[in-house]
Amino acid sequence: MNITIVGTGYVGLVTGTTLAELGNSVFCVDIDDKKVEAMKLGKVPIYEPNLEEMFLRNIQAQRLFFTTNLKEALDKSDVIYLALPTPPGEDGSADLSYILKVANDIGEMMTSYKVIVNKSTVPVGTADKVHATISAKTTVEFDVVSNPEFLREGFAVEDSMNPSRVVIGCSSEKAKDFMSKIYQPFTNTGVPIIFMDEKSSELTKYASNSFLAVKITFMNEIANYCEKVGADVDKVRLGMGSDDRIGHRFLFPGIGYGGSCFPKDVKALIKSGKQEGFNFEILEATEKVNTSQKVILISEIEKYFDGNLQGKKIALWGLAFKANTDDIREASSLDNIKILLEKGAKIVAYDAIAEENIRKILGDTISYAPDMYSALEDADCLLIATEWSEFKNPNFKLMAEKLTNKVIFDGRNMFDLETVENAGFFYKSIGRKTLE
Ligand code: NAD
Repeated sequence: MNITIVGTGYVGLVTGTTLAELGNSVFCVDIDDKKVEAMKLGKVPIYEPNLEEMFLRNIQAQRLFFTTNLKEALDKSDVIYLALPTPPGEDGSADLSYILKVANDIGEMMTSYKVIVNKSTVPVGTADKVHATISAKTTVEFDVVSNPEFLREGFAVEDSMNPSRVVIGCSSEKAKDFMSKIYQPFTNTGVPIIFMDEKSSELTKYASNSFLAVKITFMNEIANYCEKVGADVDKVRLGMGSDDRIGHRFLFPGIGYGGSCFPKDVKALIKSGKQEGFNFEILEATEKVNTSQKVILISEIEKYFDGNLQGKKIALWGLAFKANTDDIREASSLDNIKILLEKGAKIVAYDAIAEENIRKILGDTISYAPDMYSALEDADCLLIATEWSEFKNPNFKLMAEKLTNKVIFDGRNMFDLETVENAGFFYKSIGRKTLE
């Protein structure tokens, strides 16, 4: 099948590459001409494990194309995926301007039947809005389908090639046939395809992300309580997770969730609820708890340094919002950096993958180290904000030699308490005993 993907960010590029890998001809459209030029030259604009190989293979096989020309791509395709940004507007609701602008353009340009598939995360009722926007511009037949994306950054290729389920919101038999055909290689291997109405499909995505945000936040509160009563959250987590109604995933406490999805989706669902006179109280609490959780170690750092961070040099391991991605949107590192700088501290950060993106925002307001140990050189303490694998088994002896003080504030519970205790560090993590 010939398919157009509009928006080649994390979702669009991975979806486009996956659909090409499944044998379709895919035309990726983006308004960012630099990005498009780079992709034409075989450069992947984002960091995502295993993407480059599949991307290059499909360019080589002439199944994956890049353009800034929507009309050209549209004319060649039956199915048009929208993988456009839906950032939070000023009031927290999802900004649909990117989607509706492209819907308007499609309405003006299309000359034959198209299936418009919305992959972006959007509030309930957006399929109707897209339908109305296109209808206002054309009399040509078309259908609008909701097909939310569930991939995880850092595992995007794996998730996209092996989805746990495909959710399709669709009320047209004709569009349903197109979607069934596209996902046949998955359904053929037993992946469930769940058809429903558009509104339920749109809400499925928000409900899933919000549920995961609640699960993380619940565990963070349990961790904070563990510290008050002398319990160990690692033990509690293992005990809870062994109940298969709960499961082990998303029970790891830390300095809050970030990224381009959970914070904005929780906000947007709260806002959508309010528009219907409905209060999502559990989500309001989640958002509030997460905001404070992201910087929960700051007061501990201040306490350690007797309330004075002026001139203190803090090594920061990890800038990405989570491991295996270069995405720094709403990363906890940013909240911590902001406050630490305001309090007069200096930051030396290390993140092999996300440094470039942080530099674009923070420039030289912080320093950057070429490797994890150089960051520690003469630093007064170490703060860990991202759970990169390379931090998991560090050389504690070398760390002790480099750091001025053997002090670690660990926002991601990277280390086993006994190991750090034997290495003789002051160690403050989340929901566990502080080693002094
Ligand atoms: P992104 O910001 O990485 O990419 C969006 C792309 O759209 C950019 O390349 C941008 O240049 C392009 N674009 C903007 N306006 C355009 C236009 N008029 N025409 C063509 N291209 C245009 O966004 P993303 O992270 O891929 O997210 C896209 C959507 O998918 C959002 O709704 C998001 O919530 C959802 N989503 C994201 C993830 C994730 O892990 N990132 C997972 C599931 C769902």
